[in-house]
Amino acid sequence: MIRTRRARIVATLGPASRAPDKVLELARAGADVFRLNFSHGEHDHHAAALAAVRAAEAEIARPLAVLGDLQGPKFRIGVFEDGAAQVATGQTLRLDLEPQAGDASRVNLPHPELFAALRPGSVLLLDDGKVRLRVLRCGPDFADAEAVQGGRLADHKGVSLPGAVIPLSPLTPKDREDLAFALRIGVDWVALSFVQRAADMAELRRLVAGRAAVLAKIEKPAALRDLGSVLDQCDGVMVARGDLGVELEPEEVPVAQKAIIRAARQRGIPVIVATQMLESMITAPTPTRAEASDVANAVYEGADALMLSAESAAGAFPVESVAMMNRIIERVERDPSWPELMGAAHGGLDDGDADALVAAARRAAESGSTACLVAFTTTGMTAQRLARERPLQPVVALTPHIGVARKLGLVWGLEPRLAEKPKGLDHLTKGAASVVAELGLAPPNGRILILAGTPFGSPGAANLLRLAHAPPARP
Ligand code: PGA
Ligand code: MN
Repeated sequence: MIRTRRARIVATLGPASRAPDKVLELARAGADVFRLNFSHGEHDHHAAALAAVRAAEAEIARPLAVLGDLQGPKFRIGVFEDGAAQVATGQTLRLDLEPQAGDASRVNLPHPELFAALRPGSVLLLDDGKVRLRVLRCGPDFADAEAVQGGRLADHKGVSLPGAVIPLSPLTPKDREDLAFALRIGVDWVALSFVQRAADMAELRRLVAGRAAVLAKIEKPAALRDLGSVLDQCDGVMVARGDLGVELEPEEVPVAQKAIIRAARQRGIPVIVATQMLESMITAPTPTRAEASDVANAVYEGADALMLSAESAAGAFPVESVAMMNRIIERVERDPSWPELMGAAHGGLDDGDADALVAAARRAAESGSTACLVAFTTTGMTAQRLARERPLQPVVALTPHIGVARKLGLVWGLEPRLAEKPKGLDHLTKGAASVVAELGLAPPNGRILILAGTPFGSPGAANLLRLAHAPPARP
């Protein structure tokens, strides 16, 4: 199986989709990357979901990536006696450190750091801002707050204190346990939520120690203000519009999305646009036209990947959501104005050796009837530099490492495949030509451009550009 569209789809797995047959259906419908959300679900569920992805990968014979998403230092309320409570506008709600189940008049908030940061007049946003509280009185272990905007609150809903930077470790004890578990089961990417500064990502990178690629979720204004230095510590980035949209005004979110995509594309690291992309498909078989437009816009912006959250994890139409996203992406990529619109967010090339060669490959590909590009890549870097150029020919990324092949599943336009380390230039050329022919990416004798770094298999910038041809037609 091969993907012809370039933008990738990330599908979050959950109760609606983590059964092995569903995972396979999602992969067939278009999911390239599967997200395990450590904010929900037990470790056993995540381990079983990962096994289901690996089984689907074997079935479709195309690498699939798994992204482990750590909850990060997110504040949450505790539980209610009835699983939820209705808070009326104007009433007072007590928040405290007591672990007992709550009701409409009080609920547990197990975060002393948060109480320490509260003052009378502080505003608290609950459940992504659906419920808004203003603090009347507070102490080190409680707060009485007026519901300025009431609503229904369910167990474990999120709490935020907009604007405040709360001094916190970037990884909670739960994150550290989840991270160790995620690495043990073998995820390809690790995402960290609520990153505030570059040091948070540096800490994650240190703990991961090369066992997975690391990705920052940009959902705090602090991270946005310091975007360049945060991205310098990242292998990838997510525009996490859900929580970002709680702390920012609605009109700021699209502007932030464009800035994050542009900064990521300049660095050549993959960027995911996430949250509410097809929100109404949680309960309906078709999206609103505004949602279709939102998905299309992210494709026109040249994002590497688009993400489904509850649509695929807990909704009534997980497979339909992936299929719909697939259709919208394919439609945009048939629009003759798509390359030009996507090119608007492209950063200039660096003057390094790798980019000199990538620029040459791209020019050569543009000027003639090149059918396809092939990057032989040990770490993934050569393929990623090529993808950064957003070439319109298919790009096959050949690597001897399954972990690298899976990781590259998140990157725009790359079709990763396993290949043994070339024994020499002829071996590389023949191998590339036969993979291209097998995948149907070049006609008989069609031109192929191959990029690689020599000596083969040792990490380092590409230094070789080879022109080759697909095998001739069989008589
Ligand atoms: P979440 O992250 O789904 O883990 O909250 C994405 C977002 O906030 O948009
Ligand atoms: Mn979030």
